[in-house]
Amino acid sequence: MASASAELPQETILIGIGASPGVAIARSHLLNRDRVGGIERRILPAEVDAEIAGFQAAVARSRAQLLEVKEQAADHHAEHLYIIDTHLLILEDQLLINATVDLIRAELLNAEGALGRTLRRLRQVFDSISDEYLRERRSDIDSVGDRLMRNLLGEVRENLEALSGQAIIVAHDLSPADTMQLDRGKVVGFVTDVGGRTSHTAILARSLVIPAVVGLENVTTQVASGAPMIIDGTTGTVILNPSPETFRDYLARKQRYDYLERELLVYQTLPAETEDGHVVALRGNVELPADIATARSHGVEGIGLFRTEFLFMAASEPPSEEEQYLAYRTAAEAMAPHPVTIRTLDVGGDKFVPELNLLDEANPVMGLRAVRFSLKEGVLFRTQLRAILRAAAHGNVRVMFPMISGVAEIRACRNLLEKVRQELAAEGVPTGPLAVGIMVETPAAVLIADIMAREVDFFSVGTNDLIQYCLAIDRGNEHVAYLYEPLHPAVLRALQRVCSAARDAGIEVSICGEMAGEQLYSLVLIGLGFSELSMNPASIPRVKRLMRQATLDSARRLVERLLTLPTAAEVVAELEAEMRRRFPQIFDEGQI
Ligand code: PEP
Ligand code: MG
Repeated sequence: MASASAELPQETILIGIGASPGVAIARSHLLNRDRVGGIERRILPAEVDAEIAGFQAAVARSRAQLLEVKEQAADHHAEHLYIIDTHLLILEDQLLINATVDLIRAELLNAEGALGRTLRRLRQVFDSISDEYLRERRSDIDSVGDRLMRNLLGEVRENLEALSGQAIIVAHDLSPADTMQLDRGKVVGFVTDVGGRTSHTAILARSLVIPAVVGLENVTTQVASGAPMIIDGTTGTVILNPSPETFRDYLARKQRYDYLERELLVYQTLPAETEDGHVVALRGNVELPADIATARSHGVEGIGLFRTEFLFMAASEPPSEEEQYLAYRTAAEAMAPHPVTIRTLDVGGDKFVPELNLLDEANPVMGLRAVRFSLKEGVLFRTQLRAILRAAAHGNVRVMFPMISGVAEIRACRNLLEKVRQELAAEGVPTGPLAVGIMVETPAAVLIADIMAREVDFFSVGTNDLIQYCLAIDRGNEHVAYLYEPLHPAVLRALQRVCSAARDAGIEVSICGEMAGEQLYSLVLIGLGFSELSMNPASIPRVKRLMRQATLDSARRLVERLLTLPTAAEVVAELEAEMRRRFPQIFDEGQI
């Protein structure tokens, strides 16, 4: 007799991109969101029965729906009942049902893919029939096929609401909107086929403090829904069907991680300065007003980036001036006297908002997004500026414009801001002083940073986009994620150029891309001369701990050395060696 353990699924380790740190241990929950019906995917033999059961449930549901339609039509449209009867017959047709079930079993195809393939074959058969009447019956097959497919996909969708306990979501992709709606009580982590470290889904995961691994390429084809799994979002490791030893090991890691998190909170109240007294402001990036409380608990000195587009994604209608005013005012009051840096709407690219991004652009990342959209659209921009100016009466508020690529855009924004201020003054509505800055995230802005610096009060470098545009690497594309190198010599030089332009002009320079929150880069950023690092608030205690053990002088010398190296690999090797030498304990904790 075979032993029971021989039949247990094998432990499998997958390596992806660690998108949000921490360890999660739970059952998987496979989600097929945004799938076009009929997409083929291989399944595991162990999944065959569940896939067939799902398909048969869809057949049963379709049948029940048709019977209901028949009942309702019986009184008024009796002459058409034969159509429904035909459809009911098709639902019993062996060529459709058995063929699909056979494909699932023989080809290890998912139900949706098998149904799609069967339907295509049936259509071909009908297309080749010479009798016109019979050929026209194809539409009946289409109609039944659509109904079946909808029920099949619908069943998968409903599953998320039906989560019975804690789960790790496994999805091909999760949009930022999907991620925002995850039930924090139940979803303890997620993994996706696509995405990179700086995709907005990854950023949101960090801000929601949910461990996540992205860019696994085909995790959805490898995981059976309900299978036990472990994810380590710090290292990008995913373990399917862990053995008892692995399980124990990761449980210990999880406890250690959670313990370190708590221990780090002592840094919340300590000043953010180097050993030799150089002060760098550590600010938080937030997406929604609700994040402000978490940001405060991590010891932020103000908000360096308020991504306002999430206010627009959270509802089906753009927020009104009053709603925005209240959100910005609440943030300003909560943070005073520290600043709240409100970035105007940055939609487009992967922050797609269907109600706003109406164009079908071939290359939306380089399309009508961010400030380009705001300037062209006008009405929303004006409303947002009014809300920001009004909130400025209640605290230390700054405004910044995203994706600026030339001085003309800055002037257009400033002109509009001035007009809106005059309008409010004429209406007798109070406003406050407002520092005006720009996001430096296009190569053009870097190249003319010296000219731009004369036009604004501060710069904030958005490295997530700057790296993407500088190296021509889509930040959300897992296939080129290996080329997304924050320490590429071109990126280092770009950062150096921006910092020195800001210094020469005497304006503040912040960095609010994801680089700012990674300890590996902290010394480099301080040495380059950034006066503010703005990051996911949960990263602040770690960055502060590291900063308090470093000196400005040594950080500068490190940067000088790194700037002489010709490849990203050499820069990384040199930096890691230095960090390992100087912070062995933090390095060994796997925190750098
Ligand atoms: C950036 O590009 O670095 C940035 C902070 O903006 P976002 O990630 O919202 O595009
Ligand atoms: Mg950006």
